[in-house]
Parts: sequence; structure tokens; C-alpha cells
Amino acid sequence: MFLAMLMVVNGIFLAAAVAFTWDSVKEYEWRAFKVGFGGVLCMVVLGVVILLMPGLRWFVAIILGALILLFFICLIPGRSNPRALTGSQGYVAKNVQRFDERDIVFARNRSLPPGAAIYKRYYQMHPEREEGDAKRRAAGGPFGRIGSIDGQHRPNIAMLKGTFHLPPSLGQKENVEPPPEPSAFPMDPREATERIKGFARHLGADLVGICRLDPCWAYSHRGEIFFDNWDDWGKEIPLPLPFVIVIAVQMEAELVRGAPHTPSVVESGVNYAKGAYISTILANFIAQLGYPAVAQHLRHYDLVLVPVAVDAGLGELGRFGYLITKEFGPRVRLAAVTTSLPLVPDKPVDLGAQEFCARCLKCAETCPSASIPRGEKVVFNGVEKWKLDEEGCFDYWGKVGTDCNICMAICPYSRPNRSFHRLTRWMVARSPLARALFPYIDNIVYGRKWHSGRVPSWIDYSQGKKA
Ligand code: SF4
Ligand code: SF4
Repeated sequence: MFLAMLMVVNGIFLAAAVAFTWDSVKEYEWRAFKVGFGGVLCMVVLGVVILLMPGLRWFVAIILGALILLFFICLIPGRSNPRALTGSQGYVAKNVQRFDERDIVFARNRSLPPGAAIYKRYYQMHPEREEGDAKRRAAGGPFGRIGSIDGQHRPNIAMLKGTFHLPPSLGQKENVEPPPEPSAFPMDPREATERIKGFARHLGADLVGICRLDPCWAYSHRGEIFFDNWDDWGKEIPLPLPFVIVIAVQMEAELVRGAPHTPSVVESGVNYAKGAYISTILANFIAQLGYPAVAQHLRHYDLVLVPVAVDAGLGELGRFGYLITKEFGPRVRLAAVTTSLPLVPDKPVDLGAQEFCARCLKCAETCPSASIPRGEKVVFNGVEKWKLDEEGCFDYWGKVGTDCNICMAICPYSRPNRSFHRLTRWMVARSPLARALFPYIDNIVYGRKWHSGRVPSWIDYSQGKKA
């Protein structure tokens, strides 16, 4: 009986090690493959010991028992984080000033033509930014020479430009007014919520959440000018409509692992385009029901999407300033629709990310521009958070000619949504011990340093690197 029990338990561990090793091969994670293969060998050796060395069976039983005990201790739930469950307001320490869209680096680069009256107006308000912005403009903008890290490899640059072309094309259609006739279709909020979420998923959204607008996260003044609407620059932006539908679309891990090379920025563009497509159709759907709706997508925003996504229950804010979702970690791009159609809001979630990030630091240690803080959170504009140095981050984008994405790629939450990673995320969300252990386990299994991974051949960039 004792022998049979030992063989069964050893067999379960062996099967788990084989499955992990196979998953690592599929994910091109060679270090994890070696660790998994080491686990397979250990279990085979233990199996041989169980069968051939009866005197050592108790010793093997203690090893297997300790592993089982550790696993079950990591399932013991701890106390939830009440701040995470409050949503973005859980981290508001003082008054928050609404963010001015004119201050966004893309708006400063694109919408302030040197010599124009608005150029003078802006740099009179912010003289400290003029020199740095002029340098960035002269170097080609926030992306610098697009794709320079890959020798501007033409096929990938063409894909990149193709994808980023779509949101501006749809941007003029973002404000959708309902037709004058017929009058608004009366809808129960629960039914409207179910239909909108179902339709959004059908259109390609991977995650959909709903919240009421928190005015703190609405932009205060217009700064992005796309369609020669120069009179809008500097105008106060009215508060958006009161309900927000937030959409997340998944960035494929097999392209994100190419960061900071062009495949990962192509994937950013693909998912911004998907977000523009989904939010525009959703806004039109809602308008056809008789309710005003505004599509919020790349660079056509009336609100800051990450805290709104936190409020809509899609995830938590991580050390690097991205949203961390339960399903895909930070590997998502966001879009939204604001509307007056009454909907049922979702609840914010506690994934254990605050405690995990406090111990992990992997993104901060890997960031090539040292833009992610390694220390404690600070209060910035009334919000307690790890404060990213955005200017430093954009300077690195300018050097490589992509949106970098190394911090997204290396984050342990970014691992593909497979059974082992799902189990890990579930344990981290529940157990304080798992939150303490897994940052170290992740370092052992996957390493601390970033190495760009293999990407599919259709988006290979090696020809450009040789140019
Ligand atoms: S890499 Fe680590 S510290 Fe950075 S966001 Fe991800 S979990 Fe948090
Ligand atoms: S995108 Fe790159 S440069 Fe910017 S914070 Fe992340 S790792 Fe650092």
C-alpha cells in the first residue's frame, strides 16, 4: 500500500513536470525547459529509488510530502486588499487634478507646430519642456526613426504603419449621436449590459468591464489635434458621458516576446486598431438604440483609460504603470466607449498585484532607461503609485524606434494563459505565501534578465538587422 501510494504521488509529480517541460517548449522558454527537464529527471530518479531501494522509501516520502505541503499552504487564502477592491479611488490620497491632454508627449510632438501661436502658448506655460521636445521632434518624434533597432526592416515597418493608420481614420467618427427618430429604445440596465458585453466579445474583445465615470480620470483640456481642428487646442473638455465600457484586447505572447524589436510594436498597433474597430462599432450600436456614445481609442481619448479599467474590474495598476489583468497580465491594449445608456457596473478586483510588485521588481531592474522606480510608491497628483519616468521611457523609444515593451514582456503576469500560469496567478491572487514565493520562483525558472525571444517567420526582422 505504502509503495503504491508513493508511486502514484511520484507519478503525479512526474506528469506535472513533463507537462510543464512541454509547455516551455511551446513557449520557446529554454531556461524553463531546462528547469522542467531537471524536474522530470528528479522524479524519474525518485521513482527508481522507490522501486529498487526500499530502505530509502521514507526519505522519498518526506520529500514528496514536503512538496505537497508547500502546495497546499500556497492555497490558504489571506486577507483581501481593501484598497484594490475599492478601485482607483483606493489609492487616492489627496485631491487629483484632471490630466491635461496638452501635456502628453505625443500631443506635444504632433500638435505644436514650431512658430505657431499655440506653440508659444504651450512653452510659455512649460518652458522646461521646450528644449527636450525640440530635440525629440528633430529626431523624428517619440518613435525616432521608426524601427531603427531592426534597420528599419521594410516589411515590418509597413505592417506597423498599416496598423497605426486605422485609429486616426476612425477618429472623426468617434462621437456618435443617436438618430432623431425613433426615440430611445427602453432597456433594462441588466439586459443592456449583457447585450453590450456579448456583442463586444463577438467583435473581438477579450475582456469587457463597465464602470461609472470617475471625473478624476477625465482629461481637462484638448491637446491632440488630428483633423485640422486647431480651434479645439486648449479648449476645456466637457466631462464624458457617465457610463464607461472598457475593452481589452490581448497582445499575442509570441510577438510580445520579440520586444523591443518591431514585432512587438506591430502587435501594439494591431490591438490599438482592434480597439478602434470594436469601440467604433459599439458606439454606433448604442447610438442606434437611441443613446449618445463616444468611442475612445488610440489618441482619441476623453479619459485616462488605465484607472478607468481598474474601476471596471479588468485588473490592477502595476509597478510599470500598465494595467495587469488576471487573464493576460499587461499584454493588452485598451479602448472604451462612454455612453449615457444606463448599465450595471462591475466591481474592482484584487489580484494580489500590489504585494507581488512590491517584491518582484523585475521590470524596474530590466528597464533599459531606468524609468521604472525600484523603491516605494509615492503620492503623485494625489494618487499613491509607483511613478514611471515617462520622459525617460519615451527617450528610449526614440532610440530603438519602437514602443519597447520590454517591461510588458518580462512581467511574470504576461506569461501565456496556459494551465500552469493560470494556476500560479490564481494562487497569487489568494495566498500571501504564493505572493512572497513566486517572484523568486519566477526568477529561478525564467531568469532575471531580458533576452528577446523567437518570433514567427512572417514577422522576422533579422534581414533588417543585417542591413
Ligand atoms: S515585472 Fe514584477 S514588479 Fe513589474 S509590474 Fe510585473 S509583477 Fe510588478
Ligand atoms: S517601455 Fe521600455 S523604456 Fe519604457 S518603461 Fe518599459 S522597459 Fe522601460
